[in-house]
Amino acid sequence: MTFMLPKLPFGKDALEPHISAKTLDFHHGKHHSAYITNLNKLIEGTALASELLEEIIKKTVNDVTQAGIFNNAAQTWNHDFYWNSIKPNGGGMPTGNIAQKINANFGNYNNFIENLKNTGLTQFGSGWIWLVLKNGKLEIVKTSNADTPIAHEMKPLLTIDVWEHAYYLDYQNRRSDYLDAFIKYLINWDFVNSFLGH
Ligand code: MN
Repeated sequence: MTFMLPKLPFGKDALEPHISAKTLDFHHGKHHSAYITNLNKLIEGTALASELLEEIIKKTVNDVTQAGIFNNAAQTWNHDFYWNSIKPNGGGMPTGNIAQKINANFGNYNNFIENLKNTGLTQFGSGWIWLVLKNGKLEIVKTSNADTPIAHEMKPLLTIDVWEHAYYLDYQNRRSDYLDAFIKYLINWDFVNSFLGH
């Protein structure tokens, strides 16, 4: 199949001042778009061309000769998940089932966000921070470069893109400030709850 760039689920300026329209122009319009263009080119005419995105990721993760396809497929998936992990006027205290599960698995909300932020700060170089379900329990994990929990038997519920292209125009080198804004103002808890449910 030919993959297409999904529309952002919010307006270009809807996340300001936390993530600017300029960042979204580059991040969605250039970076995310390029992964999809590259993926389509790389799978054209191969057996993978008829596969779903998740299948392409799972079939190429452990094959170094397919690293280009894996990286572009995983980045295509990760970015789609990232746009849904955030929303205007999001963030703050979780609601619904995820609130109870966070208390059960991390003790309380403050422990949870401390762990989430620290994981974001300690990812060296490009990568992603994830809240995942693993064997029925919540865990916070990080992945490097394009790597994604769906290739490793984990179910993602939320992601934070910590590639510099996600925050550099707005925060320069201050990843800590980006993570604070993400946690306080952007997390889409409704999306997290929708994934927890099925
Ligand atoms: Mn990105």
